[in-house]
Amino acid sequence: MSKQLVKGSYRDHEWLENLLADIWFRYFNDIEQSNDVYIRYGRKAKRRLGSIGISPSDRNSTIITINPIYQDLEIPEYVVIATIVHEMTHYAHGFNSPHDQKHQHPHSGGVIRREFAERGLEDLYIKQKNWLKSNWQSIIDKYFVENSNLNTKKSTYVVKSPWWLR
Ligand SMILES: [Zn+2]
Repeated sequence: MSKQLVKGSYRDHEWLENLLADIWFRYFNDIEQSNDVYIRYGRKAKRRLGSIGISPSDRNSTIITINPIYQDLEIPEYVVIATIVHEMTHYAHGFNSPHDQKHQHPHSGGVIRREFAERGLEDLYIKQKNWLKSNWQSIIDKYFVENSNLNTKKSTYVVKSPWWLR
């Protein structure tokens, strides 16, 4: 599960755990950790950068799953950080966490961006969005080569916006 997608990358599982701890300490100090929270790399995905869920083996634990393509050093660290902040925002808002649910839907009108802004991270939010807009397509082309070769015509996969908000 935690095998390296990108050989030689320093971004291993331990790095990811340290990054979550650091982000929690710096930006979410007011959010109590009221259950076990794990972070790990999941399966590579075109559109899912990260997700937060309840552990299937322990309903009291939360698992944050990160796209393993993020081990690629072409992707700036701030993009990884912004994704973890996004998932931590869900945790703070009570989605797949023991906290009170603050909104009807995890992505209700602008709540994610507002949370970034309230924590002094709006620039990070914008930087991530802009970087993804200009670079993500070429990154996924690199990791999903098999798929485009199966189709005789060139991949017509189009990034739907705003997929990065999921
Ligand atoms: Zn989300």
